[in-house]
Amino acid sequence: MPSFKTLRGDIASFHDALKDSKRVLALCGAGLSASSGLPTFRGAGGLWRTHDAVSLATPGAFEADPGLVWQFYGYRRHMALQAQPNPAHHALAELARRMPGFQCLTQNVDGLSQRAEHPRAQLQLLHGTLFDLICANKRGCRYSRVDDFTDPVTPALAVPTSGADPTTNEAREVAQDLDISDINVPLPGLSPEDLPRCPKCKKNLLRPGVVWFGEQLPVKVLDNIEEYLDEEEKIDLILVIGTSAKVYPAAGYVGRARDHGARVAVINMDENDVPAGGWKEGDWFFQGDAAEIIPALLKPTIGEVAVPARV
Ligand SMILES: [Zn+2]
Repeated sequence: MPSFKTLRGDIASFHDALKDSKRVLALCGAGLSASSGLPTFRGAGGLWRTHDAVSLATPGAFEADPGLVWQFYGYRRHMALQAQPNPAHHALAELARRMPGFQCLTQNVDGLSQRAEHPRAQLQLLHGTLFDLICANKRGCRYSRVDDFTDPVTPALAVPTSGADPTTNEAREVAQDLDISDINVPLPGLSPEDLPRCPKCKKNLLRPGVVWFGEQLPVKVLDNIEEYLDEEEKIDLILVIGTSAKVYPAAGYVGRARDHGARVAVINMDENDVPAGGWKEGDWFFQGDAAEIIPALLKPTIGEVAVPARV
């Protein structure tokens, strides 16, 4: 028996609707990756060392102390690479391969959809990704390197480990990553020479290709979404996965998809997460873990989800 709850509609009627669908949109947030077990640094207590994580995610913070901001992002890249894509990432990737009219909009920067081999033309990264490296002089130089999963980005950004003896056979004495989000773990200050430099202009540092507070969302991504929403053919379904979708532009996409004929399916842990504009007749609401719900919802179209063994 599934451990998720069906609060609106039922799974059989969703399966019927999916079977007849050609154009499906998914809008994804943190809940998609929840069971992959990543630290999110959101909300109250979202501290990294003594810093409010939000205060590190600005162009001003990078200008003031690029070493500190890179240590924060080096840590987040490292943690994201320790995590594995979950069955929901794999199921959405498989749906993309089988349904050319499927588009996945994600607010996640963790690279897990890319590592589940979600076709890139069907993945719109609204907030960028930890794994693109771009020139800090964004407008002038425009250098970017896509899907760079190198860890660490430079030797100085390696996450330190406990100094366990590598010759021991005791598994529990294997060196462990130190938790550098804890202020009690010492971290050296870094200078610009320790950080990755732009290979094109050679003048500026590289920075993570995420959208920082106060920055515009990526124009190309917004254009791709507009183009999809403006197509004449109706949108059959919009899946709202692990996001409250209350912040624009994401909030607007639910209404736009509805106006274009879409029925709405919400997949969320929080039963109070009502989509922008409220519930309408024919909506579905499945409450629980996306990693369990998404494969169950998509099964008639994609079959059993194969999750590759960890390597
Ligand atoms: Zn540059």
